[in-house]
Amino acid sequence: EADKEPEEDDVDVPPLAGVNVMNVIIVAAECSPWSKTGGLGDVAGALPKALARRGHRVMVVVPRYGNYAETKDIGVRKRYKVDGQDMEVTYYHAYIDGVDFVFIDSPIFSHRENNIYGGERPDILKRMVLFCKAAVEVPWHVPCGGVCYGDGNLVFIANDWHTALLPVYLKSYYRDNGMMKYTRSVLVIHNIAHQGRGPIEDFFHVDLPEHYMDLFTLYDNIGGDHFNIFAAGLKTADRIVTVSHGYAWELKTSEGGWGLHEIINQSDWKFRGIVNGIDTKDWNPELDVYLQSDGYTNYSMETLETGKAKCKAALQKELGLPVRENVPVMGFIGRLDQQKGVDLIAEIMPWIVGQDAQLVMLGTGRNDLEEMLRKFEREHHDKVRGWVGFSVKMARRITAGVDILLMPSRFEPCGLNQLYAMKYGTIPVVHAVGGLRDTVVPFDPFSESGYGWTFDRAEANKLINALGNCLNTYWNYKESWKGIQMRGMAQDLSWDNAAKSYEEVLIAAKYQW
Ligand code: ADP
Repeated sequence: EADKEPEEDDVDVPPLAGVNVMNVIIVAAECSPWSKTGGLGDVAGALPKALARRGHRVMVVVPRYGNYAETKDIGVRKRYKVDGQDMEVTYYHAYIDGVDFVFIDSPIFSHRENNIYGGERPDILKRMVLFCKAAVEVPWHVPCGGVCYGDGNLVFIANDWHTALLPVYLKSYYRDNGMMKYTRSVLVIHNIAHQGRGPIEDFFHVDLPEHYMDLFTLYDNIGGDHFNIFAAGLKTADRIVTVSHGYAWELKTSEGGWGLHEIINQSDWKFRGIVNGIDTKDWNPELDVYLQSDGYTNYSMETLETGKAKCKAALQKELGLPVRENVPVMGFIGRLDQQKGVDLIAEIMPWIVGQDAQLVMLGTGRNDLEEMLRKFEREHHDKVRGWVGFSVKMARRITAGVDILLMPSRFEPCGLNQLYAMKYGTIPVVHAVGGLRDTVVPFDPFSESGYGWTFDRAEANKLINALGNCLNTYWNYKESWKGIQMRGMAQDLSWDNAAKSYEEVLIAAKYQW
């Protein structure tokens, strides 16, 4: 018993001194495992648990898009005005891993599991208005097992433009009127490319006094004079966080800030980058439930070679690719859009199929890019698979079964797939931007250090160059390859570090440092 290695998740975090135990309410449009379209869902599912482990009282508020089995109707009904119309919401609750998960139910959220952000304006606006209005009052109306989320140490963490109205409502409806006086708000930027832009008249859907209009009005050369929800949230929030240091820097530049860089520069005093962690219970090759059937297997650093070989063979078999151990398999997982650089992979496809290698791609998104994936598979059936769909199971199996993960993203606020890849002994090849640059230190053959390959411009020849070096190492330098894999797996990528940094932000917000 005595010489048992302590497990990562057993790390004892000392309880905080009483005065700084915060009441934290994370408000997000998606939360894994109930709802997820990308990294935001993973963050909203995992950060709260890490904050709770540090001794804070933590709640997550998220819309109820489907009938989630483990959640209970707590019998509270409230009405909020949206576009002049009274709308009723119901609250559901579940207590899991030390976190209160609260789900806001309304017919306008139901059955949107597969289309959270879809629909025409102003419908999506109405959903976000109702959600934010109801979320601010959750601490008043939802009794969480007798725990009181009191005003004193209360901080809301809002996420992206979808919930950027929350800091604005907190100020305009409550703090300006002497309520929730001590409550603070933090707004996290997961992706600045989506801002809730619209015509100036959209202001009349958000139900605020006219003198708030200026807060939402932004002029830039993308949209001219327009209505911008993110702008208002950034100006109003007590603190702003983004998901990596690299992205924090990029957001302040005119190319990276997408029209909001000036506001971010003016907010520099309250702005900070914190690199996302990963849920190491959930994304762990030793525990992953999706690796427990169909020929896959769980593995660890000790069983890396045999375990990964088995997963690779299982993946090749499942996808109908030639089952060969010594062929490098590359993977891509992600939303199919301009951001993720899938078109760069398309551009180098002739080069890829000229290699003795295999490629597996998984994604959904733009129709033309989905069609492109299917076409790759048709045209290069002996080497390439393009799986169009959103499948958590396939994402896990690809992460475990491939040797190399491609992330040629044009921009990438943090990126989680490269972190998952490293945890699974899969080597990332990434465009060195945003969080990719923070997290994938390039391999240096002289010092045998680093975690993967990077390239510094989103261009086809740069990608070929990085990938060529990577394949060369795979074929000719087996020891170096194994070293990169082992270093990647050995990293502490858990949320514990990030949670500590978030805690500093929460406390700074409280005292207005
Ligand atoms: P983003 O948030 O920009 O989409 P991230 O890399 O931060 O990118 O997070 C993406 C998350 O979404 C990962 O958990 C990834 O596995 C998941 N994901 C993306 N596309 C798919 C898909 N087609 N099927 C399953 N999971 C997916």
